Amino acid sequence: RARRSPDEAVTIFESGMHAQTLLTLRLESGLRAALRERTLIVHYQPIVSLADRGLASFEALVRWPHADKGLLPPQDFVPLAETLDLIHELGMLVLDLGCADIVRWQAACGTSALPPVSINLSARQFLVPDLPQQLLDTVARHGLPPAAVRVEVTESALAAAAGPAPAMLAALRQAGMKVLIDDFGTGYSALSYLHTIPCDVIKLDGSFVRTLAGDARLGAIVRRSIALAHDLGMTVVAESIETAEQEALLRTMGCDFGQGYLYARPLDADAVARLLASAPHTKELIR
Ligand code: C2E
Ligand code: MG
Ligand code: MG
Ligand code: MG
Repeated sequence: RARRSPDEAVTIFESGMHAQTLLTLRLESGLRAALRERTLIVHYQPIVSLADRGLASFEALVRWPHADKGLLPPQDFVPLAETLDLIHELGMLVLDLGCADIVRWQAACGTSALPPVSINLSARQFLVPDLPQQLLDTVARHGLPPAAVRVEVTESALAAAAGPAPAMLAALRQAGMKVLIDDFGTGYSALSYLHTIPCDVIKLDGSFVRTLAGDARLGAIVRRSIALAHDLGMTVVAESIETAEQEALLRTMGCDFGQGYLYARPLDADAVARLLASAPHTKELIR
C-alpha cells in the first residue's frame, strides 16, 4: 500500500474535522432555535411505592423532537447545552413546561392533589446566584405550591458546586421543595458526606440495581446504605428496576420506592393524564 504524503494526510484530517465542525454547528443552531421556540418536550417516568406499586411521583426527562433525527434523548444534546452555557435556560424551560402539564392534569382530573414531579438540575445551574428564587417563582407563577415540584441533583454536580449548592438546596427545602440526590453511589465520597447535604431522598443509581442479584457483598452495602438513609430521615428510590427479581430484592432491603421499565417507560403528558385518570395515586400527594 502506497504511503500517503504528509500533505494528503493533513488534507484528509482537515476535511474530516470540517465535517464534524459543521455537524456540531448545525446541532448548536438547532438547539438554540428549539430553546427559543420552546419545541423541546418533556416525558414523565412514574416512581412507585415498592410496597404496593402505587404511583408516588414522576421524574421529568427532556427530549428534543428533531426534524431529521427523530426524538433525541438527553445524552444527545444535554452535554452540548452545558458546553454552550444553555443548560440553565433548558432547565428552566423543562420546569415551565412541567408546571404547565401539572396544571393541565389537575384540570383534567378535577383535583389539585397530584403526585409531585421532579426535575433534573445541572451543576452549572448552581452558578446562577438566584437559582432557588427563580425555581420557586416559576412554580408560583403557575399557581402551584413548592411541594408540587422537586429537584434532582447528582452527586457529581454537588461535588462540582460544593460552594453554593448546600445553601441553595437548604433554601429550597425551607420553602417546601424537596431535594433528591440522583445517581447515588456513583461519586467517590458517597456515605461520608451525606450528612452535610440538605436532602430528602436518595436515588440509588441503576448500576447497582443491575448487579445486585448474585452479589452478596454489594447487597450488604446497599442494605446498609438504605438503613443509613432512613436513620438520616431520608427515603430511598431505586432507579432502573427492570425485573421482578430486582424489585423483590430491593423490597427486602427496605427500599421505599422504585423507578424503571418494570413499571413504566417515560410517558408523554397525554399518557400521564390517562394514567392519572385511571390509577389511584395516594402515596405522596401535593397538598
Ligand atoms: P437520570 O436523571 O438518572 O434519569 C434516569 C434515566 O434512566 C432516564 O434516561 C430514564 O429514561 C432511564 N431509565 C429509567 N428506567 C430505566 C430502566 O429500567 N432501565 C434503563 N436502562 N434505563 C432506565 P434519559 O431520559 O435518557 O435521561 C438521561 C439523563 O439525562 C438523566 O439521567 C439526566 O441526568 C439527564 N436529563 C434528563 N432530563 C434532563 C433535564 O431536563 N435537565 C438536565 N440537566 N438533565 C437532564
Ligand atoms: Mg434524574
Ligand atoms: Mg438518576
Ligand atoms: Mg442515572
